[in-house]
Amino acid sequence: YAVSMADMNVLDVLGRGQYGVVHRVFHTKTNVVMALKEIRLELNQRALRQIIMELEVLHKARSSYIVDFYGAFFIESSVYYCMEYMDYGSLDRLYPAGAPEGVLANITLSVVKGLRFLKDQLNIIHRDVKPTNILVNKKGEVKLCDFGVSGELNQSLARTHVGCQSYMAPERITGTGGPDGYTIQSDVWSLGLTIIETATGGYPYGTNGFDGVFAQISAIVHGDPPVLPSDRYSANACDFVARCLVKKQDARPTYHELLQHPWMIEAESANVDMEDWALRAHQLALRRKESAAAQLAE
Ligand code: ATP
Ligand code: MG
Repeated sequence: YAVSMADMNVLDVLGRGQYGVVHRVFHTKTNVVMALKEIRLELNQRALRQIIMELEVLHKARSSYIVDFYGAFFIESSVYYCMEYMDYGSLDRLYPAGAPEGVLANITLSVVKGLRFLKDQLNIIHRDVKPTNILVNKKGEVKLCDFGVSGELNQSLARTHVGCQSYMAPERITGTGGPDGYTIQSDVWSLGLTIIETATGGYPYGTNGFDGVFAQISAIVHGDPPVLPSDRYSANACDFVARCLVKKQDARPTYHELLQHPWMIEAESANVDMEDWALRAHQLALRRKESAAAQLAE
């Protein structure tokens, strides 16, 4: 069957991104709660049809580290992408609770496995690895979303990109990273930044703002890469992140190599209660939201 707007009851807003709103919806034909992502584009019918067609390969792509795809359609010039609803939302919402080392290692293991799946099974580069594109559910499962499956969509998003906090690797900024500036190693860099952000609760290159953006870009290209705080994380964890954040792209490890790293070998056999961490992080996020709302009402 094909999903369509006529079969969706909109429940609430899950979040907003650069390209539109993500809603929680109820799909009446299947009785499934889904996340419906709107991507506002200015494209002609041909390009929109091409995008929908390219997204279809996702029906064959199943992995426990990738958010399930239910279908896509377009209305006027917006693409609507239906995917698995992840109850606890994205990692940025949960990391203020703190990520102890075991949890951080487990999240990293899931992300690396998701990225390897995309590469090995679909031959795609994610292109947008960052905490808002890593989702967590009630079972404590960690899954990737918003990966660059459609070449047509990638091109269109690249044209309208207005990104602030930059997870881009140095070679992407300087334009020396291959035909479209992007290689698998660029995702490894973004992974390194994401791990630090999840550990420390903040983007490692400082704040935004007009001066901020210039300073950030310059720090990414010319400065030393950020590091995981060695007083709070093990030598293995720090070494793993340092390898991801090597400025020379060719020197960064492959996913296979990352999975052989002692930190990941350890994580593979560790028994971390992710369900418990996810629940507590979610409850803390709810309380923070409530107290922020209460402050606004005062
Ligand atoms: P950007 O537009 O810069 O990429 P973003 O990733 O936050 O930022 P969107 O992809 O539009 O933007 O998503 C907006 C928010 O919706 C996310 O931050 C996430 O918290 C939430 N979200 C997205 N997909 C889902 C999903 N499948 N389940 C639950 N929440 C989701
Ligand atoms: Mg996203």
